[in-house]
Amino acid sequence: MSNRRPYVGGNWKMHGELAAAVELTEDVAAAIGDAVQAVDVTLFPPFPYLQAVGHALRQAGIGLGGQDCSPHLEGAHTGQTSPAMIADLGGSVALIGHSERRNELGEPDALIAAKTRAALAASLQPVVCVGETMGEREAGNALQVVERQVRAALEGLTSDQVGTAVVAYEPVWAIGTGITATPDDAQSAHSMIRSLLGELYDAELADSVRIIYGGSVKAANAAELFSAPDVDGGLIGGASLKVDEFASICRAAVSA
Ligand code: PEP
Repeated sequence: MSNRRPYVGGNWKMHGELAAAVELTEDVAAAIGDAVQAVDVTLFPPFPYLQAVGHALRQAGIGLGGQDCSPHLEGAHTGQTSPAMIADLGGSVALIGHSERRNELGEPDALIAAKTRAALAASLQPVVCVGETMGEREAGNALQVVERQVRAALEGLTSDQVGTAVVAYEPVWAIGTGITATPDDAQSAHSMIRSLLGELYDAELADSVRIIYGGSVKAANAAELFSAPDVDGGLIGGASLKVDEFASICRAAVSA
């Protein structure tokens, strides 16, 4: 990690119920405590719990985000949630392009780019997820796939817009599997993404954008992963539902 401020997201996916979400929020805020002075932490609860989680966060210094957003700003789009609605409920971040949406729902690169633009238009911080499948890795195409996804998501964005974004490198084979990328594997993808940002924009921007790693991060492996020079924190799924695990991961990001 460099002098970039670390970033840790907790992606709760489609878990929990209202009372448990509020309790988890309060417990996580208490367990992280003052560490929020040195790490940006964002919780991504299921949409129906966004407002309640936002209330439970109160003055904890922890951010709130949606797990997705519509590419449209408003209108006849049944079942979708606009970026402005996320903001209206107190959210300031949108997770975009998670592999569970790319793969289960067939979301293509162009849709992810449109969602990224919509999030920015509503002044939300996009956390854009990219990552290769095991098949793509085994075929030797991991870095090309990730490069294609990053180029597509950022197409047409200004340097100022990209400066507000976070990129999450999440190899699909590591998500929810218990298999984690090695710090070297993560570093090679992160460093490629940073070089690409330098090529598409400039060195100053490339040096400032947070690139976080996701895929079976837990308290036991977080410090090692976060010690890689271009890994600026993590996007955490399963372990974000466990208070002590998630708090230790946040502290590992501070110490890295
Ligand atoms: C994720 O959902 O983004 C994720 C990284 O999940 P897990 O930590 O459970 O692998």
